[in-house]
Amino acid sequence: MSKSKQQDAKFDAIVVGAGFSGLYAIHCLRGLGMDVKAYDAADGVGGTWYWNRYPGARTDSPADVYQFWFSDELLAEWNWSERYPAQEETERYLNYVADKFDLRRHYSFKTFITSADYDEATGDWTITTDSGEKATARFLIMGTGALTKTVLPDIPGRGDFAGEWYHTAEWPKRDPEFRGKRVGVFGVGATGMQVIQTIAPKVEHLTVFQRTPTYSIAIRNPKYDAAAMAELRARYPELKERVHQTFAGFEYHFQPSIFDLPEEEREPALEELWKDGSLIFWVGSFGDVFSDPAANAIFAKFAQDKIRARVNDPEVAEKLVPKDFAFGTKRVPLETNFYEAFNRDNVTLVSIKETPVERMTARGVVTSAGEHELDMIIYATGFDASTGTLNRIDIRGRNGQLLRDKWAEDIRTFMGLQVHGFPNMFIVNGPLSPVIFCNAPTCIQQQVEWITDCIKYVRAQGSKAIEPKAESEADWTKQNDEIANQT
Ligand code: NAP
Repeated sequence: MSKSKQQDAKFDAIVVGAGFSGLYAIHCLRGLGMDVKAYDAADGVGGTWYWNRYPGARTDSPADVYQFWFSDELLAEWNWSERYPAQEETERYLNYVADKFDLRRHYSFKTFITSADYDEATGDWTITTDSGEKATARFLIMGTGALTKTVLPDIPGRGDFAGEWYHTAEWPKRDPEFRGKRVGVFGVGATGMQVIQTIAPKVEHLTVFQRTPTYSIAIRNPKYDAAAMAELRARYPELKERVHQTFAGFEYHFQPSIFDLPEEEREPALEELWKDGSLIFWVGSFGDVFSDPAANAIFAKFAQDKIRARVNDPEVAEKLVPKDFAFGTKRVPLETNFYEAFNRDNVTLVSIKETPVERMTARGVVTSAGEHELDMIIYATGFDASTGTLNRIDIRGRNGQLLRDKWAEDIRTFMGLQVHGFPNMFIVNGPLSPVIFCNAPTCIQQQVEWITDCIKYVRAQGSKAIEPKAESEADWTKQNDEIANQT
C-alpha cells in the first residue's frame, strides 16, 4: 500500500509486532475474515529473534515445543537442526512462517507506533506512527513482547567511553570484530552467560563485571538428523496437547515434593534431572522447590556444587556461586562452558559488589580497585520488562486516560490480556499474564486464540466494545499476588 493510501486507513484490526504473537494474531484474525494491518519497528520479521542477535543467542526451550502448532503442513516440513536452535535458525523459522502463510504483506516495517487513541463514540482505535501516519481499527492487538525496551546501567560517565559499545538486544546484523580487543561485559543473566561463553575464546581479553551471580543448568544440545526429526515429529500430536497441561508450557511437569523420596534417593534424582540438560531441573522437577525453603535448599546446594566443580580457582568459583537468593526465584538459564570461560587466562571476573563501579572514562571502567581499560563494552543488562514496552507508547483509553499513568499508580490487567478503561485493546504477553513464566510460544498461542475467540464473540453479538470490569481486574491482580506469595 502506498504511503498516501495508508493515511487514515481503516482496518478491522491493527496488530503491533512481528514476533510469535503478531504473526499468529494476523493469521488467526484473517481466519475470521478480518482486514488486518500490522507494524513493527524492525525492518523484518522475528520480534525478539530479530533484535537479540548477539553472539551465542539461542533458545532455552527445546525446538519441539518452541514452535507453532496450527499447521500440520508446517510441522511436517520444517526440520530443526538441534535441540536448542540458535537465534539465526529461529529467525529463519519465523520468516518461513511469514512467507508460507503470506503474513508479510500486512506489515509496515521500520515503523514505530508512537500513540494509540481510543474513541469512545465509535469504539475504534487510531494509531499514529513515527512518520505521522494514522490508521484506525476497531481492535488493537499489542504483540509487542515483554522484553523489548532495553536498559543501560546508570553509571556516571557512561557516555564518555570512547570505544565501541552495544546492548545485546540491539545487536548489529554483522558481528563486530572481537579479535585483538579488550572487551567488558555487564550482566550475567540468561543473555550475559550466552555472550560470555561464546566470545571468551575470540577476544584478546574479557572482563566480566558481575553484580549478582546466576543459578544455571548445563545444557545438553544434541544435533538432529533426519532420523531424530522423524522420531520427534511422531511425538508432535502428543506434545501439542501436553504443553497445555504442564506448569510452564513445556513437556515436563512437577512431582509434588522432593521429600516424598527417601533421603538417599534425593541427590540421585536431582542428578538424573540435571543430566537431561534442560529446564526440567527447574520447572519440571519437584513443586516444592518454589514453596518450601528446605526443599529449595537441596536444589541450591546441588546447583552451587556443580559450579564449584567446574571452576579451577576456588576464589573465583565462590564469586560465581549465587548465595543470597533462592534457587529458581530468578530465571534459570541454560549454559555451555560458561564456568570454564573463567578458567581461561584471558578472562577476568570482577565482582562489582566487592569492588563497585565508580565511573566510566574514555578508556574504560573504573571500580574501587582501579581502572579496566577496554576497547568494547557489551551491555547484557536486560530490559524494562513487561510494562516498559507499552509505556513508551502514548496509549490513551476512555476519557483520554494514559495507560502509563494508570500503571504508575498500580499495575492492573485482567489476565494480562486486557485493561479496564482501554476497551478493544488486547495485549499478548502483557503485565500479570502467565506468559512471563511460560515457554513463550505455548502461552502466546493460547492467548492469541483466546483473543481471537473473544473478538469473534464481540462481532457476532454486534457489540461495539469489550473491556474488563474494574472488579475483574482487581480479582485477577489479587489472585496473582496470592499465588506469588505462596512462593
Ligand atoms: P536480565 O535477566 O534482566 O539480566 C540483566 C543482568 O544485568 C543481570 O545480571 C543484572 O544484575 C545485570 N545488571 C543490570 N544492571 C546492572 C548494572 N548497573 N551493573 C551491573 N550489572 C547490571 O536480562 P537478560 O539476561 O537479557 O534476560 C532477560 C530475559 O530474557 C530472561 O529472563 C529470559 O526470559 C530472556 N532470555 C532468554 C534466553 C533464552 O531463552 N535462551 C536468552 C536470553 C534472555 P542483577 O542481577 O544484579 O540485577
